[in-house]
This record gives sequence, structure tokens and C-alpha cells, in this order.
Amino acid sequence: MNDVVAELERRYPPVWAEEWDRVGLVLGEPDAPVRRVLCVVDVVPETVAEALAAEADMIVSHHPLLLRGVSSVAPTTFKGRIIHQLIRAGVALYAAHTNADVASPGVSDALAARFGLTGLRPLQRPAPGSPAHGDDRGFGRVGELPEPMTLAELTRHAAAVLPVTSWGVRAAGDPGRMVRTLAVSGGSGDSFLGAATAAGVDAFLTADLRHHPAGEHLAADGPALLDAAHWATERPWLDDLAALLREAPGVETLVSDLDTTRGPCTPPHPLWTTRSPDREG
Ligand SMILES: [Zn+2]
Repeated sequence: MNDVVAELERRYPPVWAEEWDRVGLVLGEPDAPVRRVLCVVDVVPETVAEALAAEADMIVSHHPLLLRGVSSVAPTTFKGRIIHQLIRAGVALYAAHTNADVASPGVSDALAARFGLTGLRPLQRPAPGSPAHGDDRGFGRVGELPEPMTLAELTRHAAAVLPVTSWGVRAAGDPGRMVRTLAVSGGSGDSFLGAATAAGVDAFLTADLRHHPAGEHLAADGPALLDAAHWATERPWLDDLAALLREAPGVETLVSDLDTTRGPCTPPHPLWTTRSPDREG
């Protein structure tokens, strides 16, 4: 595992993570051999089951399983059950979260690549003096679309180039508005609405936009908004992550395509089923 962790920490140094974040090795023996790694956005029972079925030795996740303090990992709790399953099966767990968001290339580069954006620059750079500050690092990316298109066309295009979820892609703004420059931010990008306006882009695509901030942003003539499923905006990065991990000797990688539209990045919300929209039938 040491080789895998070395690759991860070369590209995504843990010190680049936000202060509130919790990244790095969550569980597993650092000296244990790792032959197969499953890359996931979320550590949930479904992705743990995938890892066990694939006989993976390690899971690398985007979202930390343990973000807030816990006083018990009893198997009667949601996360304790997961921890017990992983330890019992000898599967290690590692998280690269905001340190992978801010890296260059990072999570939003993979999202930008789905749109073929060129001339990329960060949407929001880390504060000067913070460990992540420097080079082209930062949250979100801003770039030019290969061809200008209307917001309505871009919304359909986004649904076609992003992983499919029942959440789909929602847009707010004038459907006929021409979009040339686009900002994207993987995950909850609510806090970057002001940065998108300051960047002077025509549209901003992210996840977990809320009614009031989005409405106020549009009322102030901000860029048009596109809201995709949280998972769909971060899933593209898993391919980059897998390619990175394959640089460790003797390691093969798998990528989870299980839509887990929920997770620790977002406030708890009701569990909606994203894979079986016909479940009431
Ligand atoms: Zn996220």
C-alpha cells in the first residue's frame, strides 16, 4: 500500500486539504500488499459490496467516510458496519477530498474535460499563504467551450456528456442566452456563485445549488446556472484517479459507476433512489 499512498500524496498532498476536511488513510495496514484498488466517490454499503465482490484490497474514495468526530464504530451504526466489513475483509480505505479538488490536475479538470473546455484557469484560488496556494491550483475551473451554444443546448449537452442520473441536469436563466465561457466545479459549488460572477463567465455548472442563493444570484444578473447530480460532477475524476494509481507497481484499478447521489459533502437529505425511477411501479 505504501506505493499507492506515495502516488496519491505526490499528486494530492494531504496538506492541501481544507482545514475542516479529513483526508488520507482511514483504515488498513500500510505495509499490506495492494493488487487491486476500487475508486469510488462515496463509501456506502453499495460501493463496499462492489469492493468485496471484486476482491479489491483497497478503496480510494473522494468523500471521507469519517468527517466529523465519532465516539463509536459499533457495527450497529451505519459507518461502524462499513468499517467492520472492510477490516474483516482486509480492505484498506483512503480518502482524497479537497486536496484532490484543489490540485491541478484535479477533480474539476476531469469535469471540464467532459465539455472540452480550453484555456483553463481556477475558479477560486486558495488564499495566499494557505498550503495549497500556488501554480494553477484552485477550486473549480473556468474555460471556453469549443463552440458557443445556447443555455438550452448546453443543458442538453451536459446531460449527454455527464454520467446519467435520474437527477439529470437542471438549468436556470434565459434558455436562449449564448454561452461561450463556462465555469465548472465538481461537488457542492454553492459557495462559488460569487466567484463565477467575478470570473465573468456566461454559465456555471456545479451541484447542490439551493433555491434562495441561486435565485438571488440570477436576480443580480449573475451567470446562468446548471445543476447536476453531485456524484455525476465528481465521477469523471475517478478515471484520472485510476490512471494515477496504475503508476504504482503491480496495481490494477476498477472504477465504480454506481450512482451514489448522497454523501458527506452535502447536508443530510432524504435518500432518493437514483437508479430505479420506476420503483413505484
Ligand atoms: Zn463531493
